[in-house]
Amino acid sequence: MTDCIFCKIIKGEIPAKFVYQDELMVGFYDISPKAPVHVLVMPKKHLESLRSVNDGEKDLMGEVILTVHNVAKKLGIDKGGYKVVINNGEGAGQLVFHLHLHLLGGWNKSPGWQV
Ligand code: 5GP
Ligand code: ZN
Repeated sequence: MTDCIFCKIIKGEIPAKFVYQDELMVGFYDISPKAPVHVLVMPKKHLESLRSVNDGEKDLMGEVILTVHNVAKKLGIDKGGYKVVINNGEGAGQLVFHLHLHLLGGWNKSPGWQV
């Protein structure tokens, strides 16, 4: 989608600090972190939110869950514990309408932060 900020990041048109990339998925640091580690993991495919996911995306949705856990492992926040949040719709605080998972963690290593 041409005016989607995450599609632009995925295409390399806007810079971001990537932590993961494969054929289907990307993970990059959130520009405004709400936890010591705050990464956005998402399919490259432009889907607006869970509200626009259908049966054809079952495999992709499974893949994104496995990816978010693998990124948590890669960043060393899996053992300490992490949260995964998906905002769906403006009423839930979604600001960017390209389906993404917020991976939040690292509190045990950063005492100044509240879980
Ligand atoms: P949402 O509220 O849609 O679930 O989350 C959007 C997230 O994207 C927010 O946490 C926001 O900080 C992040 N974000 C917005 N614009 C950019 C950007 O240009 N680069 C990066 N890395 N993150 C962004
Ligand atoms: Zn997009």
